[in-house]
Amino acid sequence: MLVLPLIVSSLVTGISSLDSKASGKMGVCAVVYYMVTTLIAVFIGIVIVIIIRPGKGSRDSPVANSGNIEPVQAADAFLDLIRNMFPPNLVEACFKQYKTVYKKIVHTRNVTVTLNITDSVNVTESNLSVNLSRVLHTIQETVEETVPVSGSSGGVNALGLVVFSMCFGLVIGNMKQQGQALRDFFDCLNEAIMRLVAIIIWYAPVGILFLIAGKIVEMKDLAEMGSQLGMYTVSVIVGLLIHGLFVLPLLYFLVTKRNPYSFIGGLLQALITALGTSSSSATLPITFRCLEENNHVDKRVTRFVLPVGATINMDGTALYEAVAAIFIAQVNDMDLNFGQILTISITATAASIGAAGIPQAGLVTMVIVLTSVGLPTEDITLIIAVDWFLDRLRTTTNVLGDSLGAGIVEHLSRSELQNQDAEVRNSVIEE
Ligand code: ASP
Repeated sequence: MLVLPLIVSSLVTGISSLDSKASGKMGVCAVVYYMVTTLIAVFIGIVIVIIIRPGKGSRDSPVANSGNIEPVQAADAFLDLIRNMFPPNLVEACFKQYKTVYKKIVHTRNVTVTLNITDSVNVTESNLSVNLSRVLHTIQETVEETVPVSGSSGGVNALGLVVFSMCFGLVIGNMKQQGQALRDFFDCLNEAIMRLVAIIIWYAPVGILFLIAGKIVEMKDLAEMGSQLGMYTVSVIVGLLIHGLFVLPLLYFLVTKRNPYSFIGGLLQALITALGTSSSSATLPITFRCLEENNHVDKRVTRFVLPVGATINMDGTALYEAVAAIFIAQVNDMDLNFGQILTISITATAASIGAAGIPQAGLVTMVIVLTSVGLPTEDITLIIAVDWFLDRLRTTTNVLGDSLGAGIVEHLSRSELQNQDAEVRNSVIEE
């Protein structure tokens, strides 16, 4: 309920309050951080799944192989990303997002058939020309083709709102005195939404308790799953733990020289909410509160990087997509070469960027990774049984990555922020 107004108000206030130098530096730092950490996550996932080999042996234990998932090509997924960034209608985009699906169409087409006449047995010089003469036929045949169709499906298109709010914030930020009323309006709106978030935080533990308890009651799924699926689950968990508890904190420490674990301590509420909701976007209000109130990260930074991070920076999802794709290859006894593993790394990164911050979005975009290396997309059904559980863990890693990223970006842009503060102070003194 609060996510859409929060994304708009926080981005518009965040960007309009920055001068162009600070926003440029922050943008570059954030994008570099997102790309580097996502690629590291994918690398960790690949190394772990290759070492543990959860899918080795015959394909017996996992869940029955059925289902009908349409294949989506990487190019279509990329174009959907662009369509979702620039929707034709912003209001409609709040309720729908573009998603290419493959549809079967039946049509007729002319086909030219070349026929070689080879009915003569004795090939001599005199009949050679006859034997090899060709007859061209044009016939009409009915063909069934699967073609990509881009249409809009349900689900909030946060990406369109993010792009619009960033552009809008930039414009009103440059409108000087004329834009003051609008800046004040969005500032005030943001404050009001944050107060609503403060109220919700009191209820969050109760909601989260029941969300998780409900799933634990159904836990028999997990106990009964085959050993391959069990090892696959362990591979994803080990990868997420290494990335979330060692790699990201190390990166934070190397850049800021501060204790990453006390920073993570301030994020506990957000991490538990991510675990409970399986959604980076739904957790966003709590992530804001934790960073601003507990960790004292500058609001200009959180408002700028958090909404973008929750939509495109998903280390946990990228890691899981790589592990799942290689697991499915192992189950199918398919040896992947270096080129195919590289393709998986790139498409897993793209698929994590394209996944929305909602429950199980990564499961859907994984079709891109599988089709890129020719793996059967229907084998996604092998991992569906444990996805509700892994989704919670990867969402927690996603939120952790966004939050540590905000701390790192703040540290790297501190000189620009201090300059901006000094300019504001001087202009107040002058007035
Ligand atoms: N649920 C994840 C998130 O919101 C996305 C995913 O399915 O991987 O961050």
